[in-house]
Amino acid sequence: MSYDVINPATEKIVTTIEHFDLAATDAVIAQAAKAYDSWRHVAPSDRATLLRKFAAVVASHKEELAALEIANSGHTRGNALWEVDNVVNVLTYYSAAPERLFGKQIPVAGGVDITFKEPLGVVGVIVPWNFPMPIAGWGFAPALAAGNTVVLKPAEYTPLTAMKLGEYALEAGIPKGVFTVSPGKGSIVGNRFVTNPLVRKVVFTGSTQVGKAIMAGCADQVKRVTLELGGKSSNIIFADADIAKAAGSAPGAVFDNAGQDCCARTRILVQKSAFDSFMEHFEVAVKKFRVEDPSLATADMGPLISRKQLDSVQTFLDEPIAFTGSAPTGPGFWMAPTVLMPKNTQARSWREEVFGPVVSVMTFEDEAQGIEMANDSEYGLSGSIWTRDVGRALRVSRAIETGNLSINSNSSVRFSTPFGGFKQSGLGRELGPDALDSFTEVKNVFISND
Ligand code: NAD
Repeated sequence: MSYDVINPATEKIVTTIEHFDLAATDAVIAQAAKAYDSWRHVAPSDRATLLRKFAAVVASHKEELAALEIANSGHTRGNALWEVDNVVNVLTYYSAAPERLFGKQIPVAGGVDITFKEPLGVVGVIVPWNFPMPIAGWGFAPALAAGNTVVLKPAEYTPLTAMKLGEYALEAGIPKGVFTVSPGKGSIVGNRFVTNPLVRKVVFTGSTQVGKAIMAGCADQVKRVTLELGGKSSNIIFADADIAKAAGSAPGAVFDNAGQDCCARTRILVQKSAFDSFMEHFEVAVKKFRVEDPSLATADMGPLISRKQLDSVQTFLDEPIAFTGSAPTGPGFWMAPTVLMPKNTQARSWREEVFGPVVSVMTFEDEAQGIEMANDSEYGLSGSIWTRDVGRALRVSRAIETGNLSINSNSSVRFSTPFGGFKQSGLGRELGPDALDSFTEVKNVFISND
């Protein structure tokens, strides 16, 4: 079945691709299972070399990949270039892993006990449309490094850069079948990763609703699963913070990638005594946030991914609007960054994931209330705390139920540190040194002295 890929900044067709059907999906899974027999036995140093070559080939296509992401996803040029670098960095980081997949030697009576970290087999990676390249890389790089083979399904809207990455893997000398990209529908290709017994693990990033169905489906075969799901993260600003800095960087913390970011700080909690000062600085920063043609180097934000997403985000505009930024008119799925002042904490915009350029601001009296308001959510993915008081920073960061926090900063993702969610934001961790654990099984072997 053919599928038209649309440029969200112009609504024009970028290209038309063929979707995999069930038979084609089963064929790539079978090919990946066959390739696993040899890939798992490739010497660690050779697997490391191949991953470094893969990184080098991706790096050599930086401009091409960035241009494709700008056209396919409406990402700003700055973001798209960062995203290519992220794939290169993640591949390079995990290229060190094959030679460092250490087991343990455990003291026992009557012999020697050692553990091995064995690969799982075929890993299915299912990617959403908001960060097509990085999220793909967070799955396939550690999976391949640990000796697994990978089948990857990009989101329907944004398959183009993933398809290129599949080609670059072959160009780098990674054997056919070790890493295959299969574009198609979630209900067909993605669901087959869940039901085909040759797939031994599913890495899913996407909505909490689909994540729950995938977890339930994987239970049938006790299939391993990593879930990175939705978020409703808070940006908590205490009165003792550098208010100008917190407010100046708050637009980027929520409107980056047009708010289509699971880590978007869509709740801003300001301590009451600092509210007026914060809002004054924040309004200036929002009005300066440039929403324009994403291929321009000056763009801070591009369009949303689709008409459907734009319509969905607009349903949140039923609370009082404090102020907005601006956006282009005409073709494209454009929306101005919008700041809401919800009437109470039951407002949809305060409780639900928006996945668009809308942020809600509320005040709190003291530390205890700030923590309570931030934790009043089924999600727990990310967040920021702004304060000059080190003790408070420590207390509040320990009290907030979320996987990734930044103090006096809004950056949540580094390839060398763990990333993942508490509560309904997910299960398991990606990136950093520990991600390899979720792509391996521990095997214990006792060798008798006899
Ligand atoms: P989605 O859940 O609709 O789709 C995600 C992927 O799953 C797509 O590739 C889709 O084709 C596939 N899919 C859909 N139905 C499926 C099924 N029944 N079986 C198997 N696969 C299926 O989500 P989306 O709209 O693409 O992405 C937005 C969501 O992703 C947001 O909720 C956002 O918070 C979340 N997200 C989370 C993270 C994170 O790291 N926590 C990162 C990015 C996005």
